[in-house]
Amino acid sequence: MVRLKRGRERRARTHPWIFKSDVADAGEVEPGGVVTVVDAAGRFVGRGFFNPRPTLCCRILTWDDEAVDAAFLARRVGRALQARARDGAVLEVGRLVWSEADGLPGFVADRYGPVLVVQCLTLGMARVRDDLVAALRSRLGEVPVFSTDDTVVAGLEGFEPAARWVDRAGPEEVVVDEGGVGLAVRPGAGHKTGVYLDQADNRRRIAGVAGAGDVLDVFAYTAGFACHALRAGARRAVCVESSPEAVAGARRNLELNGVADRAEVRAVNAFDELRRLDRDRARFGLIVLDPPPFARSRTALPDALRGYKEINLRAMRLLERGGRLATFSCSHHVDETTFEATCREAATDAGLRLRILERLGQAPDHPTVLTVPETRYLKGLLLERG
Ligand code: SAH
Repeated sequence: MVRLKRGRERRARTHPWIFKSDVADAGEVEPGGVVTVVDAAGRFVGRGFFNPRPTLCCRILTWDDEAVDAAFLARRVGRALQARARDGAVLEVGRLVWSEADGLPGFVADRYGPVLVVQCLTLGMARVRDDLVAALRSRLGEVPVFSTDDTVVAGLEGFEPAARWVDRAGPEEVVVDEGGVGLAVRPGAGHKTGVYLDQADNRRRIAGVAGAGDVLDVFAYTAGFACHALRAGARRAVCVESSPEAVAGARRNLELNGVADRAEVRAVNAFDELRRLDRDRARFGLIVLDPPPFARSRTALPDALRGYKEINLRAMRLLERGGRLATFSCSHHVDETTFEATCREAATDAGLRLRILERLGQAPDHPTVLTVPETRYLKGLLLERG
């Protein structure tokens, strides 16, 4: 049993995260076990997984007085899949279960056609991994499932991060179709579960605005944006990416889509490269800026905003007249208003007038919970230079 401090139940009734500082006392609880959360007066608040190790010590799974067991987990998985079904068929490529947004905080399941990739982000979820996989398979068939946990998160939570096929091995590589563009996924390799699925709709969207000019795909990962733009008729693409593994993935995707001869992958630091291109007075018709989260904590915010401003300012200067910039932030500490204000400052400093063609966000298989603002983390602007 976890008893909250007075007044802490208000937030806990709509937001699943309980921090150690919210807890008045916790009885004998097994790390990773299910715990009942009560308010200061002993009234039921919810039930969730507890772990005494991290600061975020409990994530509520249910606000109903029900058992958290295999049947419960199967119901939650079923609901998540149903939300992603069209005419009875579950999404072929995309996120099937997304943690807090699907009432399963700490668990992610992504589908890449014939393969599932799952990730546990809490000790509690790692302990029930088999139940979750069984629930997914009962609805999707006996698909091969790869488990890939984040090593840093697993270290904080105190469990051995998995990087293996759950039982029988699946293919080393699958190529998924994203609106006519093939993207290679190697289970267990690359970032996240293989592809940045949250950007899937924006990558498709880029094809429609790419035009016939030159493209600069900065923080390219496996060159998804560049592949879409090139397939849609862009002349040439320069991809900038610092991770060697991602660079290899980018080259693979460009080959797969038959556009490698029109693309160049530069394995360099994006900040340096943007500065260099600016010095060389390079010009592009489309620029994509999709950096990693610069602000991983609130205290990192001022530095992060300086970083966003710098890359956006440089990118804006690299746009030809009528050129477009798709710029993103995936830090949930940077809200839409702040991001837009940062881009505005960059434009003002650059002395450039840009029209907002569209405000962009994460793909709908990453739904947002109103009372859990952390679930709304990806925002972007599609800008056009006047
Ligand atoms: N646009 C990509 C996702 C980008 S994720 C897609 O749609 O798939 C951000 C990428 O930036 C990561 O691949 C990371 O390796 C890369 N990165 C991080 N810091 C960088 C830096 N300083 N210079 C270049 N690339 C960087």
